[in-house]
Amino acid sequence: MPAPTQGGDSRIVNALTIDVEDYFQVSAFAPHIARADWPNIPCRIERNIERILAMLDQHGVKATFFTLGWIAERHPEIVRRIVAEGHELASHGYAHERATSQTPDAFLADIQLAKIVLEDISGGETKGYRAPSFSVGTTNRWAPACIEQAGYMYSSSIYPIAHDHYGMPDAPRFAYTSFGKLLEVPLTTVRLFRKNWPAAGGGYFRLLPYALSRWCIGHVNAVDKQPAIFYFHPWELDPEQPRVSGISRKTRFRHYVNLDRMEERLRKMLRDFAWGRADEVFLGRSQIPAG
Ligand SMILES: [Zn+2]
Repeated sequence: MPAPTQGGDSRIVNALTIDVEDYFQVSAFAPHIARADWPNIPCRIERNIERILAMLDQHGVKATFFTLGWIAERHPEIVRRIVAEGHELASHGYAHERATSQTPDAFLADIQLAKIVLEDISGGETKGYRAPSFSVGTTNRWAPACIEQAGYMYSSSIYPIAHDHYGMPDAPRFAYTSFGKLLEVPLTTVRLFRKNWPAAGGGYFRLLPYALSRWCIGHVNAVDKQPAIFYFHPWELDPEQPRVSGISRKTRFRHYVNLDRMEERLRKMLRDFAWGRADEVFLGRSQIPAG
């Protein structure tokens, strides 16, 4: 195993990203909560976004918010706050439908609608897109063409790992041109023992000790000499969220493990490394290889 790297490489700015959706919209709950019921469930997104914005302000960090069109329509004030505070507003699609479960036409319509909604509210251009549950992979290689056609400049939708719900283990690990002019920024992995290991956040970040996440990001900065891209969700900072019943033991564990420790861990991570918006970290960099 390579020598561990302590803390971060202060010369590399990593991209901090937040997938703006409420707890009842996560893909793992889709079999248990119908989309038609979403409007009847009390939202917790506002208070959680407030908390995130305050935390980022305290640490002097700007981030990218991949926001659902569905959320933006109902909470335009959230969108305006994100933009007013200097963060990047990006798209997480409209209705949080996995790209793998849609036809190319339906997928294109969803991501075009999200872009229109977000740009209407914010008054600015939405350059970035992230597919729900990183659902661009080997079974829908047509997706990058749709993302480019919808007018996005970059995507962060591919996780180059093997996972039961998503992943494209043979995809490049770092930013590459995936179709036409579209830049794909894959979620960060660490390459060890001839395998890619997830190092971009989510359940892994909550489950495993923070020291391991810190080692991974430091390793990517110091050894790969690349910026990392990290993601989390507003509901991950909300231990009091209502519990969803009828879900499998695995889903329950993945969703609820260590929610009460998330904010403290994030704050450590914000202190240990340099962070910025994904558009500022990745767009305009030279010498990005074609995939
Ligand atoms: Zn999502």
